Amino acid sequence: MPRKPRISFHDFTSCEGCQLQVLNCEDELLDIVGAVDIVQFREAIDEKSDEYDIAFVEGAFTRESDRPRLEHVRNCAKIVVALGACACTGGLNVLKNYRGIERAMKTVYGQRAGWYETSEARPIEAVIQVDYKVHGCPIPKAEFLEVVKSLLAGRKPQIPDYPVCVECKLKENVCLYHKGQYCMGVVARAGCEAWCPSYGGRCYACRGLISDPNSGAAKDVLEEFGLTVEQVLEEFRLFNGAYDVAKKR
Ligand code: SF4
Ligand code: SF4
Ligand code: SF4
Repeated sequence: MPRKPRISFHDFTSCEGCQLQVLNCEDELLDIVGAVDIVQFREAIDEKSDEYDIAFVEGAFTRESDRPRLEHVRNCAKIVVALGACACTGGLNVLKNYRGIERAMKTVYGQRAGWYETSEARPIEAVIQVDYKVHGCPIPKAEFLEVVKSLLAGRKPQIPDYPVCVECKLKENVCLYHKGQYCMGVVARAGCEAWCPSYGGRCYACRGLISDPNSGAAKDVLEEFGLTVEQVLEEFRLFNGAYDVAKKR
């Protein structure tokens, strides 16, 4: 009998909320568990093996001492999937880059700042090659399941590359621009069913940016309200610090 694909989960700098989303998949996860061997998943099992085919990596790269562990994951896995905003774009962690590392350390640890190691927060693909990304803070469960099922079936996962506005319009929400507020839905990657605008909140593009945010409708919407993509990104650094980091690299 051919062996089942082996899956592992690894965490770096994160709140581990995306791994929790995986555990929240409940019923669907039971089906998946039957089709794979989960050989490393600190939040769920005690076993720990370095023999895996697909590695899901959660968390940003924020200290040099993590580099060997991250490279080890890459060397062991055939496929590496970045799990969540921290891993995909650096996520909220990138905010400290703007503050300056020394200042950020003093703010958090005060007199004990020297006791701890940290460096600029970066997405994991600043260190290793990443094959696929599950975006979001946290990841949508449906997208995680789509990625797992696709990889097990040997096909490329379908990740949306159109703006959140598309999903927002389908939900018939009143656009926040018409209420005098900024929203990043025009340039943010869809796939979350427009969670935030559907509950009255602004989209902060936790799922990163679409690959061509200057094109078509996105640009038109911003122009209509006298804004540029750069202005909106400046306004919403919360999840898009990596956009600036990527430009600097
Ligand atoms: S992306 Fe958000 S939910 Fe996921 S680990 Fe990072 S901070 Fe937590
Ligand atoms: S800009 Fe925001 S509120 Fe307006 S349609 Fe797009 S996602 Fe919805
Ligand atoms: S609406 Fe925007 S901020 Fe909210 S979950 Fe979706 S991509 Fe993230």
